[in-house]
Amino acid sequence: MNQSPQKQSLLYEGKGKKLFATTDEGQVIAEFKDDLTAFNAQKRSSESGKGALNCVISSLLFELLGKHGIKSHYIKMLDENNMLCQKVQIIPIEVVVRNIATGSLSKRLGIEDGVVLPFTLVEFYYKDDALGDPIINDEHCKILGIINDERDLEHLRQEARKINDILRAFFDDRGLKLVDFKLEFGRNAQGEIILADEISPDSCRFWDKQTNKKLDKDRFRQDLGDLKSAYAEVLQRIQTP
Ligand code: UDP
Repeated sequence: MNQSPQKQSLLYEGKGKKLFATTDEGQVIAEFKDDLTAFNAQKRSSESGKGALNCVISSLLFELLGKHGIKSHYIKMLDENNMLCQKVQIIPIEVVVRNIATGSLSKRLGIEDGVVLPFTLVEFYYKDDALGDPIINDEHCKILGIINDERDLEHLRQEARKINDILRAFFDDRGLKLVDFKLEFGRNAQGEIILADEISPDSCRFWDKQTNKKLDKDRFRQDLGDLKSAYAEVLQRIQTP
């Protein structure tokens, strides 16, 4: 019988997930938390059931991407809050993909909120809470020693664009605009760079195509209320084309 590995000691606790070692040293369990944070964790809350929604949504999206040839750390969902994953060394870059201007892009460059960008923008941010996750370019990556080989940065960009093409079309069919999202990647035991972390309404912005209603963490950031029903609606749209 092929039994799932068992949860062991806590390896790391982040803002949205706890990471546990397992009886298989090549695999970890990500437990999705109900905690909500925004603005570099200056704003905090918790919403019961949010972690489970993100765990299911992420699992379904990793499965979808896998069918399109995108390699990720995802192995399977164990229960509603726990995901079995390949152990990876996370690369400390937040890869942000944007189709529509909003959030920090609008603020930084003065582009009006909601403007469709002439092409998909891919940005890198240095994953460092103490520094407030500053935006960085390829040369910063090399200076910081995060990634030394230009081909790896190009790979991150290409994967991010492929993922955007797949997800944008998928959500468009389901009446949602994929406004922007954040990805993280990691190196597995073979040194291969694969998609990691999560893809959920905590890390993506979804707007209803008809009404522009926000169905993501902006409901928390902007005190719009009804966060859980918005996340549940994203799940329902994923499940019913
Ligand atoms: N994002 C994220 N984690 C972060 C920063 C951003 O998941 O630490 C996501 C965010 O949900 C949005 C996209 O990345 O989908 C772009 O976020 P932006 O830079 O506009 O930052 P914000 O307005 O959230 O400060």
